[in-house]
Amino acid sequence: MGIAVIVACAAATLLFLAAVGPAAAEPKRVLLLHSLGRDFAPFADVSGRFREELIRQSTDPVDYYEISLETARFAGAEQERPFVDYLQALFAQRKLDLVVPVGAPAARFALRHRERLFGAAPMLFVAMDLRSMQGAGVTANDAVVAYRFDLPAVVDNILRLRPQTVDIAVVTGNSDPDRAWLEELHREFQPLTSRVKFVWLDKLSFADLQKLAGTLPPWFAIFFTPLQVDVAGVPIGQERALESLRASSSAPIFGTFENLVGRGVVGGPAVSSNELGQRAASVAMRILQGEAPASIETQPLGPGRPIYDWRELRAWNISENVLPPGSEVRFRERSLWDLYRWQIILVATTLLLQATLITVLLFEHRRRRNAEALARRRMSELAHVNRMATAGELSASLAHEIKQPLAAMVTNANAGLRWLARNTPDFDEARSAFQRIVSDGHRAGQVLGSVRAMFEKDSGKRAQVDLNGVIREVLTLLEGELRAHRVLAQTDLLDGLPEVSGNRVQLQQVIVNLVMNAVEAMESVDDRPRLLRIKTEIDNNHHVLIRVEDSGPGIGLDNIDRIFNAFFTTKPRGIGMGLSICRSIVEAHDGRLWVSPGVDYGSVFQFTIPNHGQKKKDEKIGPEPLPRAEPRQPAAAPAPREPVAMLRTARHH
Ligand code: ADP
Repeated sequence: MGIAVIVACAAATLLFLAAVGPAAAEPKRVLLLHSLGRDFAPFADVSGRFREELIRQSTDPVDYYEISLETARFAGAEQERPFVDYLQALFAQRKLDLVVPVGAPAARFALRHRERLFGAAPMLFVAMDLRSMQGAGVTANDAVVAYRFDLPAVVDNILRLRPQTVDIAVVTGNSDPDRAWLEELHREFQPLTSRVKFVWLDKLSFADLQKLAGTLPPWFAIFFTPLQVDVAGVPIGQERALESLRASSSAPIFGTFENLVGRGVVGGPAVSSNELGQRAASVAMRILQGEAPASIETQPLGPGRPIYDWRELRAWNISENVLPPGSEVRFRERSLWDLYRWQIILVATTLLLQATLITVLLFEHRRRRNAEALARRRMSELAHVNRMATAGELSASLAHEIKQPLAAMVTNANAGLRWLARNTPDFDEARSAFQRIVSDGHRAGQVLGSVRAMFEKDSGKRAQVDLNGVIREVLTLLEGELRAHRVLAQTDLLDGLPEVSGNRVQLQQVIVNLVMNAVEAMESVDDRPRLLRIKTEIDNNHHVLIRVEDSGPGIGLDNIDRIFNAFFTTKPRGIGMGLSICRSIVEAHDGRLWVSPGVDYGSVFQFTIPNHGQKKKDEKIGPEPLPRAEPRQPAAAPAPREPVAMLRTARHH
């Protein structure tokens, strides 16, 4: 069986690489001799890198062979012989330029059979600890690219990361080479036994080893050496062995080769397989180019900078702060920030911009509201001033309106007294005289009542307002003025006009201003009646519409666009604020104020007020319409929908 295995396993791979170079050039023959199999870590990494580099660096064609030396697992020379014969047959006709044993078992085999198999071919020993080569018979025709584990550094690293460690379980193999290595380890660790205790696990099969690893107490650490064959004679693929050991282990595992980081060791100072392979390729090139192997000096490759596995550090609760300076941490799990940095930045920036925009808009909104409030306050003050000015203008006619009923009252009282003082007092006459006194008293009261709004400070409050009532109130107020200017006032007030929600003082001011403007406009009219018409109706939008129409000269085309501007006036003593205030008030009530020319002459000012709530005119807010000025013939209330004329004889103040 042994021979069959040997022959079957001695796989030779021919890689003829002659991409470049003259066709006549003799290729360089290189034999790579594996210790246990092509795929055994860490040698597989070393030889892989060696192969790549050799091909890359060589300008000549390389005839490249790889053979796995499975016999290393079989102690006896007997089992080795057929394999040696096989190799001899294979290379009898092919002179080798370089033999490269990888790992200590292959090195020993090559030295043992050098003369018979390889003749004078130079040898390059790669990937072994020099300690395992002592006394092996390396000659001047050989070069060595070795590594050197720093075993005290391994212990230092374990204690640095896990100061609670009391015992280190050493996992090694049990083949011949494993045993040689084991002795070496014993020797090297001896001086360190004062710091930790070593527990040697070389007597266990790999399966038992796994079981034991799962029961180790927390003060244990495992040192995983490059084991090759376990006590049961089963070759151990190092990386796979480590992975399954890690799966069951209750103690952290430490190793010495870089290729183990990521497969279950915590990490530490580690020898790099890549670098070893690269070095070996450079030395091989020099030998192939004719340099004497003995003259090529290479220091054994020591551990490079410490490398750790982030996942293992986390699993064993080891802080990164305790790692030696300059350490490299691999396999760090990428955080959300690492994965989505740009998306997060983008979203955050968008949110920030949005927040800024919202803040600016809120600030602007607030500023605008403040400005609007200020404008409203100013407008209200101006409106008040405007009302005061109007009241000033009206003072003469108002005084007259009060004086007249007072005088009538005195006259009627005297008449009443006279009727009573007669020898046969005429009570009927006296009664009617007193009744006239009462009605004159009411009239004086109404005039004073209508004046009150003019002097009121606008409270800004809104209420349901009956605009028909307001119009009647204004006409009462301005009756003297109308009379003084010989103006005929006609009203056409819609019966059942809905009330509007609004500010009564302000709406009264609008009507006063429009009527006063009409009166003043008609001052120049002498050839036709001075006619003021006030009409209320509901427009197509169901808003209350008020029309104030005069028979004055109208407004020139030049001015029609300007009359609503503040301070625009054509009057010598005008201020030009009346219409501007009217428009502000109407717009504050969500309405519209505009002017158009009359049919033949004059102007028509119209404004709408939406009747929010559609409340019908039931209760009267304004005073009743004035009775006629003449005490003896009190005027009847104007019949709804019937045009009512209030013709006053002109009187001068
Ligand atoms: P003021 O009455 O102080 O001039 P207003 O703003 O009330 O200020 O009026 C602005 C201008 O509009 C008036 O000077 C006048 O030229 C014109 N105006 C207003 N009402 C009428 C009207 N009914 N007929 C003709 N022009 C008018």
